Amino acid sequence: MSTELPIAPSSDRVAIRDRVASLVRQWQGPLTADLLRTPGKFGLGQVPAGKAPDATTTAVCGYCSTGCGLNIHLRDGEAVNLTPDVEYPVNTGMACPKGWEALSVLQASDRGTIPLMPDDFGNRVPVKWEIALKVFCDRFKAIQEKHGKQSVAFLSTGQLPTEEMAFLGSLAKFGMGALHGDGNTRQCMATAVVAYKQAFGFDAPPYTYQDFEESDVLVFVGANPCLAHPIMWQRVCRNPHNPEIIVLDPRATETANAATQHVALRPKSDMAVLYGLAHILIAEGWIDREFIDAHTADFDGFAHHVQAFTPERVEQESGITREQLYYVARTIHLGKRVSFWWTMGVNQSYQGVRTAQAIINLALITGNIGRPGTGANSITGQCNAMGSRLFSNTTNLLGGHDFKNEAHRHKVAGVMGIDESHIPHEDSWAYDRIIEGILRDEIKGLWVICTNPAHSWINQNTCREILDKLDFLVVQDMYHSTETAELADLYLPAAGWGEKEGTFINSERRIGLLKKVCKAPGKALSDFSIFKLIAHYWGCEEMFADWDSPEDVFQTMKELSRDQPCEITGIDDYRMLDERGGIQWPYRAGVDSDDSQRRLFEDGRFYHEDGRARLLYEEPKTMPEPPNPRYPYLLLTGRGTASQWHTQTRTSKSSVLRTLYPEHIYVEMHPDDAKREGIRPNSMVRVASQRGSLKAKAFVTPTVQQGQVFIPMHYEETNQLTLAHFDPYSRQPSYKNCAVSIRPEGSDVAK
Ligand code: SF4
Repeated sequence: MSTELPIAPSSDRVAIRDRVASLVRQWQGPLTADLLRTPGKFGLGQVPAGKAPDATTTAVCGYCSTGCGLNIHLRDGEAVNLTPDVEYPVNTGMACPKGWEALSVLQASDRGTIPLMPDDFGNRVPVKWEIALKVFCDRFKAIQEKHGKQSVAFLSTGQLPTEEMAFLGSLAKFGMGALHGDGNTRQCMATAVVAYKQAFGFDAPPYTYQDFEESDVLVFVGANPCLAHPIMWQRVCRNPHNPEIIVLDPRATETANAATQHVALRPKSDMAVLYGLAHILIAEGWIDREFIDAHTADFDGFAHHVQAFTPERVEQESGITREQLYYVARTIHLGKRVSFWWTMGVNQSYQGVRTAQAIINLALITGNIGRPGTGANSITGQCNAMGSRLFSNTTNLLGGHDFKNEAHRHKVAGVMGIDESHIPHEDSWAYDRIIEGILRDEIKGLWVICTNPAHSWINQNTCREILDKLDFLVVQDMYHSTETAELADLYLPAAGWGEKEGTFINSERRIGLLKKVCKAPGKALSDFSIFKLIAHYWGCEEMFADWDSPEDVFQTMKELSRDQPCEITGIDDYRMLDERGGIQWPYRAGVDSDDSQRRLFEDGRFYHEDGRARLLYEEPKTMPEPPNPRYPYLLLTGRGTASQWHTQTRTSKSSVLRTLYPEHIYVEMHPDDAKREGIRPNSMVRVASQRGSLKAKAFVTPTVQQGQVFIPMHYEETNQLTLAHFDPYSRQPSYKNCAVSIRPEGSDVAK
């Protein structure tokens, strides 16, 4: 049974939150041996009666980028339960509901156990691996012969271990000759990547989680860690300095409600507010001139740019009063250790890169970087988005290198022992260009690995039609039931977290170890094994002859990283990662300290050749689809619960997690808007945009501003409404703004 949302009174909402929090708190206590022997206790239900654990090992969690350490309790070598690892430097004994349920979702009835292909009547039927692999190679090769090598592309994920990503990117581009491949990390992190590269000279989040506890001022922009990164939020709650917590967010989110200052700005006015803060800091002399002169470039240009962002202008554009803006600037000035944090509210925007850089600029001009409790800190989404950023061979050549740089291609070819001619000289198309390429008949074959674009891609209806145009769609996933897998011409069953080994890199650059603690069901194989088999059937196995295990790939990754900012040559092997509780990059033997919490830029040197960070800025753009008379509300999307992950592919399989959030889609709207539209709390409404419409339950709440509505992203229908528009630098989709109408269900609707 699913929890129904309490509608209307905010006290009810608080009550349900308290109930959920109490459930979560129960799970955060240490599990005793008695409890481990109790089937179903705490709803975990993973311990078969009479099967008490006889050993324990450790592994990092496979959902979000926090990268919590888990103790996996084993019986006869198989996982029977788990508890958070109290020794691990990330979570120190805590885990969110998703982590606690990481094992149960492996048992689902829709796990793929054998390859599937549609028969002549369109019914999916099992086929042997030998046949599936032959079909994979024959069909993709035929497409490449007819339409060119670049007509086959791949879409991957930030959920694969780094070694599998490196294998996939190498196999597809060097072995199969594909040019275009991207990951679902484009949907969450591309903006931060580009912002850091342009500002610092390398994609380098500078912080360590200890900074959550060492700041005296924390500024969160477009971030709701209470829900999206609950263990990071726990670290904030442990901060002993009684910090000021400032949240810039249009919604009164859980984090905003817990903050000392909530800046409830208008959607997409964040850039103006950040420039307005810089305006005040500079005008008042509340800047670190010594740091600026020694370590940054183009301060004068930036100072000139923000002169135009007077408090009056910012008030007009953002709805934030001059007094509040000044108060925030003064709080930043008075802080000794100020840290700035952002996530999807910034990244998923048509001007995300420049907004992220407006945050970076605040840290730079106030000298809040490279010291404990400071930094311009992007919080990543998926468990291995950071691994994808460095080693997926999609936007970067392996190891943070550049496909267009001859010296880089030469180095990578040498380390890999392959002919340099196999390495493309061009960057891949980004995700949106690959989708457009299908529409233009330039991409005819697509290999989708461990992601679900038919649910998650912006403007979903168009995406499904576009996928239908392909000559050949292969989906490789744990579950055969995802929206994308059901469209596939060939489905390959893959092992999931806990059923294979490898490494993840978390938000603070910590490389953590994933272990095999369960057998994959039926004939499902690890993605590593599938790639190895495809290489064999394709005829390029020689290229990967040295890679017999993920740890072999890890050894290659070490060499690829040499002399890069992300160098990890000092890590001996997996055992060292295990013993040390993960290791943050960079780690060069004898150069980098062995401290378990390390941050970047302590010497003030950045990765540009002159060692200086760039202050980058631009005039804000107008919103592409503002509310209008036909569609008078602005739709915001985002995470609605700590118990759900992305498209729910895994989390929906847990009966425990399903009790912690509403089963059916709901839309949050302001009481005054509900009254105006004649919408009663808890009634069904129709939400429509120019692209489609959906039916949802009305959750009437003052936590959204008038004129705005909010729908959680994990419901399948949500992206039927969203507008496909992108940041021009990062090509990241702007999920958080489009115009919609909302009416009682059954009345005339805009569409
Ligand atoms: Fe930790 Fe994230 Fe896993 Fe939750 S989902 S246990 S916060 S890593």
